[in-house]
Amino acid sequence: MLESEANELVDASESIRVSQSLKARLLTHNRNSFLYHLHQDPVRFESKKRQREEIQELLKSAEGHVSKEEERIIMAEVKEEIADYLRKREEHEKEAISPLERYNLISQDVDSAIVAIDRLIAINRSHMSSLTQQVHQQNRKSNRLSLLVFGLGIVLVSGVMIGVFLLITRPLATISQTISNYKEGNLKERVDAKGLNEVQVIASNFNSMADWLEEKRQDQLRFIASIAHDLRNPLNSMSMASEVLMGQSQEDARELSKIIFHQVRNLDRLVGDLLDTTRIEAGQFDLNLSENDIGGLIKNAVGLHQTSSNLHEFQTHLPTDPLLCKCDSSRLSQVLNNLLSNAIKYSPNGGTITIKASLEGDEVQVSISDQGIGIEPQDMENIFRPFHRAKNTRNAIPGIGLGLSASRRIIEAHKGRMWVASTSGKGSTFYIALPLK
Ligand code: ADP
Repeated sequence: MLESEANELVDASESIRVSQSLKARLLTHNRNSFLYHLHQDPVRFESKKRQREEIQELLKSAEGHVSKEEERIIMAEVKEEIADYLRKREEHEKEAISPLERYNLISQDVDSAIVAIDRLIAINRSHMSSLTQQVHQQNRKSNRLSLLVFGLGIVLVSGVMIGVFLLITRPLATISQTISNYKEGNLKERVDAKGLNEVQVIASNFNSMADWLEEKRQDQLRFIASIAHDLRNPLNSMSMASEVLMGQSQEDARELSKIIFHQVRNLDRLVGDLLDTTRIEAGQFDLNLSENDIGGLIKNAVGLHQTSSNLHEFQTHLPTDPLLCKCDSSRLSQVLNNLLSNAIKYSPNGGTITIKASLEGDEVQVSISDQGIGIEPQDMENIFRPFHRAKNTRNAIPGIGLGLSASRRIIEAHKGRMWVASTSGKGSTFYIALPLK
């Protein structure tokens, strides 16, 4: 399409160029003829002859560029007018008239030929301008088409990218987030991944594995709870028997039964704690919320532990105003007691135990620091997992590894946070942050 229009444009502009040369030759031929007759100069005769030949050649060339019917008609007129001029000139040259008279007679024929040539030029000019317009329109169309193709390309590429995002990237990110939440102890986390089949298979495998682990964990906790429960019955009867024994008169029997009685009490407390922590670990506990002064709870807990060790000095830093916070006071005391007894237990050489509490924004922050054995970096997060005990304590210091996981569950049930900072061999600081409401 564009190629044929380009050819037509070349033809039209060539035709204009040839027509203008023809016009010029015609005028110089007329003038030369006049001057020849005026001066009878043979050089003028020769150039007059040559110009006549050139006029014929140019006419032929102009005919070669004719492309439209309308142009063909005008071309025929041009040929006729020029032939007329040449013929009349020959005729008038034979007549015995003055050069000026001849010039005047012939001028009308020259003018008619020139007018015909001008029409040929005009029609080619208008043809050229309509062709240029067509080319512009085509350009605009093809620009619009390119824009459309480009737009479609962008839509297609974006579609593919959105598809990859929806089918692969987002589901994989969901799976990865769930796995890291699970790793942090949110054992109820499951993946709801949509997307490619393969991604869904990974998600459902993860879910089955987590379900299986959760089942095992519940079995383990049920097992511990049932042992604790079974231990409690003989403990109760031993406790009652020793109480009866204590009432007997013999001094030795009384002393012996006192020892049994205290040991049974200790065991009973231990079993009670075990039962409670397994229930917390299994998520089977409710909070009894009320407004409490955290400072007061800390003072009570410190009071309980202060007398239990001669090796440790307790330092408490509390603000003068009460630190009021909505919480379950007995559960929070349980956490504080657990952290304080750990601070004593894991600093066997004694040292200072520092307890601080302050208002930080819309949270109450509590920290309990000791100067004990500290925690290795690789154990820092694991110690909050149930039954996990750090290597340096496993065989050296008694414990079952449920206190911290139960404490963190209690704090998280309050929508709070619990974390630790420690330097192995130098001591540890456990932190609690609780929202005010
Ligand atoms: P338990 O004390 O019965 O082992 P916990 O859940 O309270 O159980 O603690 C888990 C583990 O964290 C402990 O076995 C010990 O390795 C480590 N740990 C806890 N508190 C401290 C502390 N204050 N200093 C050093 N290690 C600690």
